[in-house]
Amino acid sequence: MEYDLIIIGAGAAGLFAGARASAAGLGFCILESRKQSGLKLLASGSGQCNLTNALDIHSWPPRYGKAHRFVKPALLEWTNEDLVSFFEQAGLPCEDRGDGKIFPVSRNSRDVRDLLQKLCLQGRGRIFWKETARSIEKKGSLFTVHTDKGTYSASHVLIAAGGKSYPSTGSSGDSYTLAAGLGHSIVTPVPALTPVFISPFPLTGSSGTALPVDITVFREHRKVNRFEGDLLITHKGFSGPVILNNSRDLIPGDELHISWLPGMNREDLDSFVLQNIRESGKKSLPSGLALKGIPDTLLRGLLKKAELDCELKMNQLSRNMRQDFLKVMLDSCFTVGSLGGFNQAMVTAGGVSLKEVNARTMESKKCGGLYIAGEALDVDGETGGYNLQFAFSSAALAVKNMAAR
Ligand SMILES: Cc1cc2nc3c(=O)[nH]c(=O)nc-3n(C[C@H](O)[C@H](O)[C@H](O)COP(=O)(O)OP(=O)(O)OC[C@H]3O[C@@H](n4cnc5c(N)ncnc54)[C@H](O)[C@@H]3O)c2cc1C
Repeated sequence: MEYDLIIIGAGAAGLFAGARASAAGLGFCILESRKQSGLKLLASGSGQCNLTNALDIHSWPPRYGKAHRFVKPALLEWTNEDLVSFFEQAGLPCEDRGDGKIFPVSRNSRDVRDLLQKLCLQGRGRIFWKETARSIEKKGSLFTVHTDKGTYSASHVLIAAGGKSYPSTGSSGDSYTLAAGLGHSIVTPVPALTPVFISPFPLTGSSGTALPVDITVFREHRKVNRFEGDLLITHKGFSGPVILNNSRDLIPGDELHISWLPGMNREDLDSFVLQNIRESGKKSLPSGLALKGIPDTLLRGLLKKAELDCELKMNQLSRNMRQDFLKVMLDSCFTVGSLGGFNQAMVTAGGVSLKEVNARTMESKKCGGLYIAGEALDVDGETGGYNLQFAFSSAALAVKNMAAR
């Protein structure tokens, strides 16, 4: 049987492409190597699926780093507002969590996956699970996709087999082999949106704590970067948006100088400490130094890091000890031991080179009729719904173009 389109991968991009292809009346099949669709979609947003973001779409491109120009036509073709209307009209209400991140009201990523899969199968589409694409051949205008079990033919192929992160969800880098087989160059894939590990890590007792911080990064004693945002303390180091979104710019050996009190300067903190020594001299350090927004366990961990004894009374704080306290609160230094690998990275940076793909159609410049969407491409966005939206938008753009041909 000859299809209009073969979609390789039933992840976010592949399923969305299928839903759009169904709506366009195309005859298509999706080949999915796992025994069910969308395993990464199911894991997204801790199982709640942060589909997209409410921020004005025109402000999005810088959130994709150097791919900012490439992502624009896809994002404008199928915007965050289009996506929310699409899901709502299909019976899946969505809502802004309050911080711009948009989720299904049910907070269940399974609802998103199941709805997309249902839409794929509504028209002339089929999904073949446990069917791994191994190579793609093009003869004349006809593509043949070879799997472990057989061959499939179509006039168009969409590679939507994802990147290399979280290989347990099925994306193990096959997009690159398949695209390279048709002449594409691959920008070396590296893990992105990863936590950092610090060894030894002195704040294990505060794991699970999330708070806003200001981080200055030093490399070989030179200041190279500064970020602010929400940090999550883990058992072995740091995560949360401020780390994940900037992990692509960090390397082992970097020193993270953290201010736990962003916006507060040395003088203000020193006055606070001196006042508390005067007013609460008999209190122990953790109660006398309690600061709004700093949980007790974290304060104790930081006092320990500064080698200040938690049993001391406030009026026993010497001038040097006070300076040590100011330093640990406003300029705590942690050396990055390592970054998470592909098993912990939420996305992959690198992938099919953007120079070889038409950003206005998602069609390959190397091989007519071949399209590429989602994380297979050298596009990685920040956390907050930007990666799923790109997967959906790029898939929608690709299908629109092939349907118009
Ligand atoms: C834990 C986690 C949480 C995340 N949370 C969010 C979030 O809340 N919001 C957000 O925007 N982004 C989030 N992301 C990122 C987002 O999930 C991905 O960017 C997005 O799913 C990529 O979609 P994709 O379709 O390109 O690739 P994938 O979803 O990885 O899909 C690729 C599919 O192709 C299949 N496949 C691979 N090779 C072959 C082959 N040879 N033949 C057939 N099939 C194949 C795979 O099995 C897989 O089903 C998260 C990622 C992770 C890991």
